[in-house]
Amino acid sequence: MSGSTVIPADAAPAAPVAERLRITEIFHSIQGEADAIGWPTVFVRLTGCPLRCVWCDTEYSFHGGQWHDIDAILAEVASHGARHVCVTGGEPLAQKRCLILLRKLCDAGYEVSLETSGALDVAAVDPRVRKVMDLKPPDSGESARNLWSNLDHLLPHDQVKFVIASRADFEWSRDAFAEHRLVSRCMVLFSPVHGKVEPRELAEWILAERLPVRFQMQLHKLLWNDAAGH
Ligand code: SF4
Repeated sequence: MSGSTVIPADAAPAAPVAERLRITEIFHSIQGEADAIGWPTVFVRLTGCPLRCVWCDTEYSFHGGQWHDIDAILAEVASHGARHVCVTGGEPLAQKRCLILLRKLCDAGYEVSLETSGALDVAAVDPRVRKVMDLKPPDSGESARNLWSNLDHLLPHDQVKFVIASRADFEWSRDAFAEHRLVSRCMVLFSPVHGKVEPRELAEWILAERLPVRFQMQLHKLLWNDAAGH
């Protein structure tokens, strides 16, 4: 006799399993960087990251967090009444169901951006999402994690961000910018690591090399000095 379980033909179908994500925080603030800088934005910060950049400023998102149904996340986002939504982390793509959240946010009509480390495959991200994708220079300690094939999935509305901690990082970024012809792919952002490179120094390096990249400092650090919830 077989040991398999027989399910009666008239048995009720199993209830669908809710699609959930582990979330560190959801908050309403001013977008502090990238192309959408300055817009009132709802941030959805997903928990967890497989990288450990030495200058990471969101280590509190590595662990903990709480499970939320994706529909409940959408309801909370809606309660803030903003047009822009930024899905961030941690590394949001480390949770596969992030792709569902991104699609549903786009379907709901938001301007959606995704902040991602550049180490995980972005191929399946909804093309309506504006990807803000890092390429990690050496001083991050995570340069080996750059997934260069991601460059083939960039769209003109996306952005590549280099976070620069030293002159060596700057030169690495300048060379990567040229080698991968990023100028023809999308907007490129160069940003200084707080306390490692003087912002004016980085600005002057960009000007001296006549690089067609966009210098940026994180607006939320100027406004709120990196306080939680901003
Ligand atoms: S990828 Fe982002 S969240 Fe992860 S360690 Fe690096 S800076 Fe921090």
